Amino acid sequence: KEKHYRMMVRARIPGGVLTPEQYLVFDRLADEYNEYGSLRITTRQTIQLHGVIKRNLKPTIQALNEVLVTTLGGCGDQVRNTVCCAAPGHQIYHKEVRRDLLQLVNAVSAKTNAYHEIWLDGEKVPLSDELNEEPLYGAVYLPRKFKLGFAVEGDNCIDVYTNDIGIVAHIDEKRISGYTLLVGGGMGRTASDKLSYPRLATPICFVNRDQLIETVVTIIGIQRDYGNRIERRYARFKYLLDTRGLEWFQQEMESRLNRELVPPRELTWNRANDHLGWHTERVGRSYIGIFVENGRIKDTAELRLKSVLREIVEHFRPTVRLTTQQNIILSDIENSNRSVIEQKLREAGVALAETLSKTKLSAMACVALPTCGLATAESERALPTILPDFERMFQEYGIEDEHISVRMTGCPNGCARPYTADIAFVGRSPGKYDLMLAGDFYGTRLNQLFQELVPIDKLADTVRPIVSAYASEREFRETFGDYCCRVGLDRFRELITKNR
Ligand code: SF4
Repeated sequence: KEKHYRMMVRARIPGGVLTPEQYLVFDRLADEYNEYGSLRITTRQTIQLHGVIKRNLKPTIQALNEVLVTTLGGCGDQVRNTVCCAAPGHQIYHKEVRRDLLQLVNAVSAKTNAYHEIWLDGEKVPLSDELNEEPLYGAVYLPRKFKLGFAVEGDNCIDVYTNDIGIVAHIDEKRISGYTLLVGGGMGRTASDKLSYPRLATPICFVNRDQLIETVVTIIGIQRDYGNRIERRYARFKYLLDTRGLEWFQQEMESRLNRELVPPRELTWNRANDHLGWHTERVGRSYIGIFVENGRIKDTAELRLKSVLREIVEHFRPTVRLTTQQNIILSDIENSNRSVIEQKLREAGVALAETLSKTKLSAMACVALPTCGLATAESERALPTILPDFERMFQEYGIEDEHISVRMTGCPNGCARPYTADIAFVGRSPGKYDLMLAGDFYGTRLNQLFQELVPIDKLADTVRPIVSAYASEREFRETFGDYCCRVGLDRFRELITKNR
């Protein structure tokens, strides 16, 4: 008798955009083959189905393939799902970004036929003669996963600095004038290994639209050829950059591209929150960003989120857009349907974004227990139990309208991008978290370790003295993270030690 191996299936959904038909297949598969009957939106703008029994893997992957969704590139040592700001728009640059993203995804995708042979019962067909191995990945693929992310200047909702290559579109006269590329971002670290660390991507060059693919492929090629294949924990691109140095990397790029790099443009950011609530998309059409707590789409007694999304998608046929903050946008909705959709959401128990606190709207947790094999602590199930303490505390000190991001992960790998949050809890052991502070809401600064192994029920109290000091001492328009950096965390460490 075969053991009931349980798997996770993760799709590759470039930019998180799904047709209504594609979304409905995910919804159906969650009921048919997923032990938990839920969909999980991830920070990489895709969907995970958890608890798929081994014998149901093939039918799951085949059903996705029938609506032109693949899982190839959802995992593995290759370019993962490429993310992009999910907010729709009618400007030319929106279309240009989408076109460039899809062309880039096509250029960096594995060309293997093995996927079709194994999962889709395809014929065994070798790569053609001129393609006797993967053109980009060669015989052994990359040393480690590789992440690409598109942002439009000014809006860092995707956390562009956390990608191996961040691609920032510059807009001139409503068109893309080119991209600034950033290299070497990555969140993962190992708690016991002081040589591992999260890193923000460094701006490296500016490229015209027609140079984008060639430049990105060249960068990936350098990681393929020089990345660490001996020690997997140092195999991410960021370690190659820091080991060899940025100067070496620039020279290697210029030599492979046979041209000098153009310096990156200056980047400024004025928003980073997700595109929640109603927005005008174009004349007569709107989109709505719906908050999904920690990306989990399921039905409970109080909240019939899965059912109501299915009903709306079936009936109104919106384009479905998954965001990198684990929320969902329904777009291309006729304005005349806004009120009925809103009514349906309310009846299903779905709170509209404007009724939720800023703290809740920007909070994120990774999956962690019980379905992530790497988790050492709770995250998705734990954050909703402690977030109300923070909401209450922020209200108490009158700072509930400040942008303060709170994130939690079940291990230091950092899937919910904890290291760029204002306040983060990184799981170290059951019920205990490293408390990180002083990140930045716009995702441009790494936070710092404030205290190790804080019990979950002490997290809010540990942060309280800093929140209190921020509320009374902050300067005009000073953010929580900026305040922590200005006064320094040592002052609060000393306070805690004195009060022990
Ligand atoms: Fe990622 Fe770790 Fe969370 Fe698992 S527990 S989802 S590996 S951060």
